[in-house]
Amino acid sequence: MNLEYDLIIVGGGVTGGILAALMADSGLGIAIIEATKPDPNHPDPRVFAITRASEQIFRSAGIWESLSKHPMGHFREMEVWDANGSGSIHFDSKDLCEPTLGHIIENQSIRNTLSNRIHQQKSIHWLCPETIEHLERKRDHADVVLASGERLKTRLIVGADGFNSLVRDLSGIELKSRDYGQTALVCSVKTQVAHNDVARQRFLTSGPLAFLPLADPHLCSIVWSTIPEQAQTLREMPEKDFHARLEEAFESRLGRVLETGQRYTFPLLRAHARNYVSDRIALIGDAAHRVHPLAGQGANLGFLDAAALAEILLAHKDRDIGKKILLRKYERWRKGNNLAMLIAMDSFKTLFGSTLKPVQWLRNRGLELTDSFKPAKQLIMRRAMGLEGDLPELARTPDFL
Ligand SMILES: Cc1cc2nc3c(=O)[nH]c(=O)nc-3n(C[C@H](O)[C@H](O)[C@H](O)COP(=O)(O)OP(=O)(O)OC[C@H]3O[C@@H](n4cnc5c(N)ncnc54)[C@H](O)[C@@H]3O)c2cc1C
Repeated sequence: MNLEYDLIIVGGGVTGGILAALMADSGLGIAIIEATKPDPNHPDPRVFAITRASEQIFRSAGIWESLSKHPMGHFREMEVWDANGSGSIHFDSKDLCEPTLGHIIENQSIRNTLSNRIHQQKSIHWLCPETIEHLERKRDHADVVLASGERLKTRLIVGADGFNSLVRDLSGIELKSRDYGQTALVCSVKTQVAHNDVARQRFLTSGPLAFLPLADPHLCSIVWSTIPEQAQTLREMPEKDFHARLEEAFESRLGRVLETGQRYTFPLLRAHARNYVSDRIALIGDAAHRVHPLAGQGANLGFLDAAALAEILLAHKDRDIGKKILLRKYERWRKGNNLAMLIAMDSFKTLFGSTLKPVQWLRNRGLELTDSFKPAKQLIMRRAMGLEGDLPELARTPDFL
């Protein structure tokens, strides 16, 4: 006999987990299918710069209180500067009368908190390690066959299974993807000078180098995007040499590099699904889009997808939630916003990667001009923090405009 659910979420990462948590009190029967069991010996090394909109989504999902007990960084200011010139820009949360611009939270902390929240919920079944093998869409439901041989029946399947989404492939949704020609090197870095809750990013011609402040005042997580061969060399070089290269690339803004953690690399790709929905299918997070990490927006976009979809499903939970006509509302809401972010990231990458002198001159003047024009900076900050825009109610802070 097929087990029946209203909603099956494939992928128990941060976006799939958030969607489940937002839907937890809906009364709908939900299953999450996650392929990998967490391995405490190999935690995910990524940390996320989390916007105020995402913080609000975490509150709506009932995880913020527990999550804020985990160590996290809070960035009050942000400094961005160009390695080829004198242009720089400085953002300060004080200019918006806000306590912070956002938070730096470990991916693993978010996943663990979500997992605890989901396991407390009787209406949500967590199937792990498990994956789907086959799906078949019918007029009024979809059938799913799992790798274990178990058969499930549902009204809607949400693909939250990341960049290599099987749900997307099995549904025949096309993905347009392109290699950024960069790899991100990620590791923790202990510095001589305290970070003072400032997020810093230097744009080198080969790619941006970001220092994200963690809870310890001398500890940052870095994301160093560069050409793949250099990333490989940086990952493998002896610690002492790596420290010297890092100090040089960062102009020793935080003094000497004292210690670094294990180095990881991530190939950087740009991707966008041609459609976010199909009959009985919706894609969220990296299954639908993948952006360059230079503005720390990838997971934040996924949380907004989850919140937008949850809002639509909750409003129509007594109807057939798998109907394409309903799911199209979600696609219309999120696709344009995500595409705008993809284009903005591409433009930044191209602009700051250019070695042409006139382009370098222009971007430096652009940075200086924007830095001196307070209203423009405030607008950029409010947008980046998710304090305005076409946001779901579940993401709106009390001071949302
Ligand atoms: C170096 C780097 C730094 C970044 N920094 C930031 C940042 O500061 N801020 C930010 O917002 N974003 C950042 N991002 C982007 C962020 O990592 C992603 O956008 C985010 O992890 C996407 O989450 P997801 O849940 O959609 O997908 P994933 O994290 O890929 O999770 C997918 C889940 O689905 C599971 N799965 C896959 N296939 C199957 C299957 N067939 N069956 C069952 N389960 C399956 C996987 O095991 C996994 O748990 C960064 C990315 C990189 C590479």
